[in-house]
Amino acid sequence: ALPPLDEVIAGLAVDVPDFPEPGVVFRDLTPVFADGPAFRRMVEGLAAPSFVDPRAAAVAHTDDGPSGDPGFDVVVGVEARGFLLAAAVALHTGVGVVPVRKAGKLPRARIAADYALEYGTATIEMHTDSLRPGQRVLLVDDVLATGGTLAAAVALVEQLGGVVTAVSVVIELAALGGRQRVAPHAVHTLWTT
Ligand code: AMP
Repeated sequence: ALPPLDEVIAGLAVDVPDFPEPGVVFRDLTPVFADGPAFRRMVEGLAAPSFVDPRAAAVAHTDDGPSGDPGFDVVVGVEARGFLLAAAVALHTGVGVVPVRKAGKLPRARIAADYALEYGTATIEMHTDSLRPGQRVLLVDDVLATGGTLAAAVALVEQLGGVVTAVSVVIELAALGGRQRVAPHAVHTLWTT
């Protein structure tokens, strides 16, 4: 039997104390991304927040990939590590991928959301035409820490008329309370620590 996915992730992720600043333990997921079988299981896990929609459980995996309704119409990924995951989840489920970018990167008409960091603020943006009203969105990032980034991303998606059906992350740092920040949207996590 395969080991549980949370154990696989915990075994491959590397904790880096005092990065990028003293007091922060950085959870480096690059070794999980670099491991083929682990990456595949991680992508499958992010793609299947079973609470999204009963139909999500009905997605049938064939040699040609999954078929059926995954419970969302598009995957939205947050720059930069979220991009690695969101594109793979989109390909795996047969839907498109839309980027949430740091300020100043998107070339056309866009909307922006500011959010607080430990020191100062940051801004993320989306193209105004990147979602159609009513589109069901799976929002993906690597780590849920304070939840500020994902809460801002939810606000952008909703401003464009998107419907957030779930938020999927690899790691939830539970002590930081990010889940409350993203509520009432459900957060699907592969490893809570
Ligand atoms: P937050 O807005 O506080 O939830 O932070 C989330 C963003 O910062 C995510 O995109 C993470 O990639 C990154 N991040 C925050 N804290 C950590 C951490 N301890 N280890 C790795 N990445 C982190």
